[in-house]
Amino acid sequence: MRIVLLGPPGAGKGTQAETLSKKYKVSHVSTGDMLREAVASNSPIGIEAKGYMDKGELVPDDVVTKIVASRLSGDGLREGFILDGFPRTENQAKSLDEELNKQGIRIEMALYFRTSEEVSIFRLTGRRVCRVCGANFHIKNIPPKSENVCDYCGGKLIQREDDKKGTILKRLEVYKRQTRPLIDHYKAKGVLKEVNGDLEIKEALKGLFVIFNEAHLA
Ligand code: AMP
Repeated sequence: MRIVLLGPPGAGKGTQAETLSKKYKVSHVSTGDMLREAVASNSPIGIEAKGYMDKGELVPDDVVTKIVASRLSGDGLREGFILDGFPRTENQAKSLDEELNKQGIRIEMALYFRTSEEVSIFRLTGRRVCRVCGANFHIKNIPPKSENVCDYCGGKLIQREDDKKGTILKRLEVYKRQTRPLIDHYKAKGVLKEVNGDLEIKEALKGLFVIFNEAHLA
């Protein structure tokens, strides 16, 4: 399985990618997670990326390309992958195409999570993340057993800096301007499929399985 997940922040891509990568035993490549790890470890890339991330802007292509390069080359991706949050610009999509061409492999499917702004905002404003293990919760949809405490490791739950309302609006605007055009990029390749990102997680997952079965990807 070699797929790309497209859609606005809050579409549920990360949550579905986690489930799918376990089920199909393929790598979940999330540039957001990789960048947050770089920020947490105070690496030079993390220091450069942080300012953009906190403002809800995209990290420049050369920085992101550097950070994914190790995951996109070598044999890693031959086994299969789910790209979540990458590519996010036309330039990134082109470098991805070039890298995969070199390796003689191609994207089998780009799944577009069509999601209303209202649902994206509801999901992002309510999201809470464990400061220790990174597990995701939602104050209404996936509440932790005790308030602000991670069910898995007991760590403190926090709100991501970029999940505050003003930054969310910026991220949605950046998505529309820079990332949404990629829908056409993958449509032109004949690999685009659409799912209803407004559906509750389990329902959307059922829709994904139907699409995979029809495309003989499962
Ligand atoms: P995410 O967790 O995917 O919403 O990503 C969080 C933030 O990381 C984004 O708002 C961007 O600042 C940055 N980011 C993640 N992936 C990319 C990417 N492919 N290109 C540029 N910036 C990215």
